[in-house]
Amino acid sequence: MTNYDFDLITIGAGSGGVRASRIAAGHGAKVAIIEEDRPGGTCVLRGCVPKKLLVYGAAFSADLDDAIGFGWEEVDPAHNWGQLIATKNTELDRLAGIYTNLLSNAGVTLIEGRGRIKDEHTVEVNGKTYTAERILIAVGGWPSVPDIPGLKDHAITSNEALNLGHRPDQVIVFGSGYIAVEFAGIFNGFGAETHLVYRAEQPLRGFDQDLRDGFSEAASARGIHMHPGVTIAKVEAAGEQKKVTLNDGQEMVVDVVMAATGRHPMTDDLGLENAGVTTNDKGAIVVNEDSQTNIPSIYAIGDVTDRINLTPVAIAEGHAFADTIYGDNPRRPDHTNVASAVFSMPPIGSVGLTEEDAIAKGINPKVFVASFRAMKNTISGRQEKSVMKLIVDPETDVVLGVHMLGPDAPEIIQGMAIAIKAGATKKDFDATIGIHPTAAEEFVTMRVPRSG
Ligand code: NDP
Repeated sequence: MTNYDFDLITIGAGSGGVRASRIAAGHGAKVAIIEEDRPGGTCVLRGCVPKKLLVYGAAFSADLDDAIGFGWEEVDPAHNWGQLIATKNTELDRLAGIYTNLLSNAGVTLIEGRGRIKDEHTVEVNGKTYTAERILIAVGGWPSVPDIPGLKDHAITSNEALNLGHRPDQVIVFGSGYIAVEFAGIFNGFGAETHLVYRAEQPLRGFDQDLRDGFSEAASARGIHMHPGVTIAKVEAAGEQKKVTLNDGQEMVVDVVMAATGRHPMTDDLGLENAGVTTNDKGAIVVNEDSQTNIPSIYAIGDVTDRINLTPVAIAEGHAFADTIYGDNPRRPDHTNVASAVFSMPPIGSVGLTEEDAIAKGINPKVFVASFRAMKNTISGRQEKSVMKLIVDPETDVVLGVHMLGPDAPEIIQGMAIAIKAGATKKDFDATIGIHPTAAEEFVTMRVPRSG
């Protein structure tokens, strides 16, 4: 028997690493977790949580506009950006404290510093080595910035966008994935002149086509300047500002350029080569269904494995790992029908196959679509339309996908995700009596398919 310092060393105290570590410790394992920042990881410190707090803050401007239709007098309140960032940071301090306490209450040893793998059972932190029977890599991802002249020097990423000292007056957001459209909504909501510059013809690649159309229309009606089909050719300093040249020759001078051009696994300088851990062409750690790498003692979960890069998925992977190895309860994380949301304005929620996915799989789905102005928008005068869509298998009647653009879409789709997980059929949807008046009731009252 070899004597290790720990049963498990986890590298990275983000959502996945913390969950795996404390569940493993709860099952009786001796666990250490290594973190160079405060515990919390991307989601709590640099992602979902601070982003959503800013989304809440930014949404008040549209609410104030809408209120006028309901008889409220027009007001133009000043916004204190510094106060928002400070209050948001206080909340993050509180959450990081909770994460630290969760670890110590579970009996997990927190080692501060950057972990580097020395061999298949050894990790080095600040010149000191620690050994473990197993190592779990949960180091997450990091923003990728394309190699475009001046972009790396002059653009911020989501990391910095959450901590700007001032609200920019003009901003270019580059990209049109989750992060780009969410931050475009934030900047626009707080009154910045916001440009979304993206190479595709439509934002949000991978989402349902009707939702992408609806979002483009709504975002531009809300004041975001949409620049489809272009890319940034170069960025230069222009005094305190940035001069951006697009590949169609257009030039813009703005306060802030934000690159929201994807994320990559954070495997740099992790020492994976010392243990011979295999990565793929994107640098992601290759794992099997048990989150085990090609080296039997080394496991990996979350964004560093580039499976489905969402916090609850990393948590599910970490929990399943800990239960399987330390809890005598072998189970695998289920990556099917994982719902996700985009906290854009208006927001999007989605679970299961899109119409395009279904067709690509050789299914000719029945497609039910509702597109309508939400009740609140009738009196508010806002022209924005919600879009709701059901994708149904014509042979089995099983609902393969549910998609929504519109107020509360993420909250509504979370409930729909349970139905999809349970294998609900369109008949089950039809047999469900709606809650009136809601937008969600549309999902149980769609009768005539648009196609299929
Ligand atoms: P995405 O992969 O969603 O989007 C990347 C965007 O950058 C796309 O619009 C892509 O364009 C564009 N892009 C990439 N490379 C280039 C390039 N060289 N030149 C021009 N444009 C480029 O990444 P995000 O950074 O938005 O988000 C990363 C991940 O984080 C997401 O996949 C998601 O898993 C997670 N996330 C989830 C959130 C949520 O659940 N609400 C919120 C935020 C992040 P194109 O489409 O043309 O390829």
